[in-house]
Amino acid sequence: FQKIKEGLTKTRNSMVKSFEGMLNSFTKIDEELFEELEEILIMSDVGVHTAGKICERLRVRVKETGTTDPSEVKGLLKEIITEMMEGGEELDLSTKPSIILVIGVNGVGKTTTIGKMAAELRRRGKKVLLGAADTFRAAAIDQLGIWAERAGCEMVHHAEGSDPAAVVFDSITAGKARGADVVICDTAGRLHNKKHLMDELAKISRVIEREAPGSAKEVLLVLDATTGQNALNQAKQFKEAAGLTGIVLTKLDGTARGGVVIAVKEELGVPIKYIGVGEKIDDLQPFVARDFVEALFD
Ligand code: GDP
Repeated sequence: FQKIKEGLTKTRNSMVKSFEGMLNSFTKIDEELFEELEEILIMSDVGVHTAGKICERLRVRVKETGTTDPSEVKGLLKEIITEMMEGGEELDLSTKPSIILVIGVNGVGKTTTIGKMAAELRRRGKKVLLGAADTFRAAAIDQLGIWAERAGCEMVHHAEGSDPAAVVFDSITAGKARGADVVICDTAGRLHNKKHLMDELAKISRVIEREAPGSAKEVLLVLDATTGQNALNQAKQFKEAAGLTGIVLTKLDGTARGGVVIAVKEELGVPIKYIGVGEKIDDLQPFVARDFVEALFD
């Protein structure tokens, strides 16, 4: 909790401190308060759509409770935002092995996230195997290898330039043979266009479906929170190309734009599974909506 709280310092300072200052300047809840609130939310990268939704629900809640006291708005906001983000946060790890495919463009923190996720799952007593299916760059394979070592898990890899679907095939086969609980596959972030991405992911999905038909499967998209609303646009593109089951938002520690986390579930209908709050191995936190809101508003 302390880590999440520290990681959210910049966002809290800009978003929540603005709320508090604003609420202090009002003596009653009126239309002007809602308008100022909506503006602060938009400024904090919550996005126009989600900011509107939050204010709409707040109006209803204020009416229901009959409150006229601005100091009660913060509590109501916390409830509303929690409700919006809740649901589906847990990874599906119900089979052995479970397969996690990790996608996202270069630089968002994909490799780092896989390494940290492997370490987090290891702490939960899971045996993890990594598949280096980003075969575009030798450096990506090397980097994943370093993380595998750090996290204490095995990695399956082929040579640079080989077929990613073949790496996924071998990873699943090895995962089954070695009794892995979770197989996490990296994928290339450098894809020429949406068609190419769709074809590539479809091919990988077919391999997973064929080799692990009854397995629990996750397709996680990694997004860089420092890019704010652009991250959301990127997510919409990926959602069209792949059947996303979850989102990981990285680099929350380096940004005041953490409001984007609030928009993800509302706008995409895809739950957040993890948040990244630093570069170190234990800086990836399983996402729990209630804890996140508590840490943000604390
Ligand atoms: P990839 O190209 O998507 O695989 O990205 P990398 O995993 O190589 O990460 C790119 C950079 O982002 C690296 O310098 C990471 O240390 C950094 N990074 C990743 N996640 C986080 C995070 O949660 N917080 C911070 N501050 N940096 C991060």
